[in-house]
Amino acid sequence: MEFKDKRIIVTGGTRGIGKSIALSFAHEGAWVAVNYSSDDESAATTEKELARLTPKFRIFKADVSSRPDVEKMTKTILDEWEHVDILVNNAGIINDKLLMFLNEDDWERVIDVNLKGTYLFSRAIIKTMIGRKFGRIINITSPSALQGRAGQTNYAASKGGIISFTKSLAKEMAHLGITVNAVCPGVITTPMTANLNQEIKCDITDRIPMRRLGRPEEVAEAVLFLASPEAAYITGQVLAVDGGLT
Ligand code: NAP
Repeated sequence: MEFKDKRIIVTGGTRGIGKSIALSFAHEGAWVAVNYSSDDESAATTEKELARLTPKFRIFKADVSSRPDVEKMTKTILDEWEHVDILVNNAGIINDKLLMFLNEDDWERVIDVNLKGTYLFSRAIIKTMIGRKFGRIINITSPSALQGRAGQTNYAASKGGIISFTKSLAKEMAHLGITVNAVCPGVITTPMTANLNQEIKCDITDRIPMRRLGRPEEVAEAVLFLASPEAAYITGQVLAVDGGLT
């Protein structure tokens, strides 16, 4: 129970990778707050699963790209829980199109959710971490940021921004007991990748040295490691969990 009574926020924690991270922390005795923006059904299922694991959890319908939503959610958590130990900026979306078909809205929405959301949540909780001279921030990036991917200029730019944000904030916070790292999942079986057709899945699998897609729990393990006391001297890093892809 390494995370017993630690207070944790996982953005986008109602499905896929974020849900697995939230449940893993809850399983370790942590207090867990998650948010989502639209999928009430997944939120209701996650709520039931969290309730089985920990008495201290909260679920918020709050858009990570909306400053008022983020401020309201973090204020509620800080009023109730006093501080936050660990923030996992996981919420993310894709909207894949070749650049010539990518309009300004397609660009802005992906950047706003993935990159601005990471900024808004980090900014909202950083003061409480500074005050206690302890904190762990873990941001979720993507192989697209490291390798590029046709049709993902918006997504790759948002995730590349997350890596640069992570490295810069790590340097700002290192002397204050706060570590900031990124986890880079490869191709993971989640609702986000569920719509890929079989041909694309086979093509992707062929390019993964381990010849299989990853599981959300395998990403969660890496996040829990970076949040643990054993990772106290690690900051500004990008840890790939990708079966050798990158
Ligand atoms: P997913 O299954 O689609 O889940 C995304 C989660 O984020 C959901 O809970 C979703 O809930 C929430 N979310 C989306 N937009 C939001 C917003 N504006 N405000 C608040 N919550 C929001 O995705 P996933 O595959 O688990 O991906 C999780 C993260 O890993 C993302 O950052 C993704 O880019 C990254 N990643 C995934 C893969 C992969 O292969 N799956 C690979 C590399 C990186 P609502 O829909 O209800 O808002």
